[in-house]
Amino acid sequence: MQSGIESKAFDRFSETCSAVFTDSAAQWKGQGGKVLGYFCSAMPEEIATAAGMLPVRLRATGSDGTELSDSFLSSLNCTFPRHAFNMALKGEYDFVDAMVMFNSCDHIRRVYDHWVRQIKTPYVKIFSLPKKAEAAQIDWFRGELDQLCADLREHFGVELDDAGLAKAIKQHNLTRRLLRRLYDLRKAERPPISGAECLAVTVSSTAMAAADYNEVLEQLLEDLEGSDGLPRPRARLLVMGGELDDPRYLKEIEDQGCLVIADSLCFGSRLFWKDVDENDPDPLQALARYYVADRPSCARMFTEYDKRAAYVREMIRDFDVDGAIFERLTFCEIYGFEQYSMANDFKEWQVPLLCMDREYILGAIGQLRTRVQAFLETMEN
Ligand code: SF4
Repeated sequence: MQSGIESKAFDRFSETCSAVFTDSAAQWKGQGGKVLGYFCSAMPEEIATAAGMLPVRLRATGSDGTELSDSFLSSLNCTFPRHAFNMALKGEYDFVDAMVMFNSCDHIRRVYDHWVRQIKTPYVKIFSLPKKAEAAQIDWFRGELDQLCADLREHFGVELDDAGLAKAIKQHNLTRRLLRRLYDLRKAERPPISGAECLAVTVSSTAMAAADYNEVLEQLLEDLEGSDGLPRPRARLLVMGGELDDPRYLKEIEDQGCLVIADSLCFGSRLFWKDVDENDPDPLQALARYYVADRPSCARMFTEYDKRAAYVREMIRDFDVDGAIFERLTFCEIYGFEQYSMANDFKEWQVPLLCMDREYILGAIGQLRTRVQAFLETMEN
């Protein structure tokens, strides 16, 4: 079920989402700009923007195999880092000038160990990301971000000060507010945009300069406001889980007659459901607090589960959700634990939940369709 949006703005997002080295990045590089690449959404894009660099969250979109990375990563590793490192070995991330990693999980940490030895990126560093969200951890993370800023100043000769950070926070908060406006439209009985289309829009927010992105998104909102909207679906679904950056996965689900109208994904609502505090006199402290404690957290933050469950429950209520799908990449322990805990809560809440494992690259489509159809029939019965 796709709305088939007729909008140049949407076409731009669709293109951006279907490539890694996007037109935006090519233009940016063409003008002599530097690109800061990263994997995990804990990377404050505001720091790259304030440094005059383009933040690009690296995906493995278009990857067709792991023939090179198989020499470094085992078949028991998550398929996202395996495909991503394969692309790095093939030189498809050579447009990246600075690569910033976090110990988001052991699989990504292993990629770092190989990246520093195999890939010739001018600047590569891994920073420590806390697993708890209390004052001590926020201060710790502020220290890590301070080190990152010092490195960028030294390595790229950029100016990176509080005024620049405060300005970047405002720009990225505008992105967050605009995306929340987009999600508000999905609360309607007949939303103007499908889940797959919406994922293309949110993924693009991690691959374009904030100022440019905000302009295009404002145009899309204009194009959508007042549209008739999609027909009433068989079910309104929420999708949750970890790294999902391929709209085709949601399209396969929605082609069974349902509509994904909300999510708890790290390329989705978790990126923008809250704002960074613009009034904090210390913008780096505000960023540390936001990325460690304020925004809806990643499942790796084990002490924050109750907050995440409350967040999902709020989504179910606010978006009038009928059921949910929990997707996770095979071998992802972090979302394995989360899936187990959520399954218990959904049983208690008496909200239907379908748990599915998948590979990073879209496949086993027949099985996916069959399972979603069976899930929808169970809900209808
Ligand atoms: S999906 Fe899980 S295992 Fe894979 S990179 Fe993300 S956190 Fe790590």
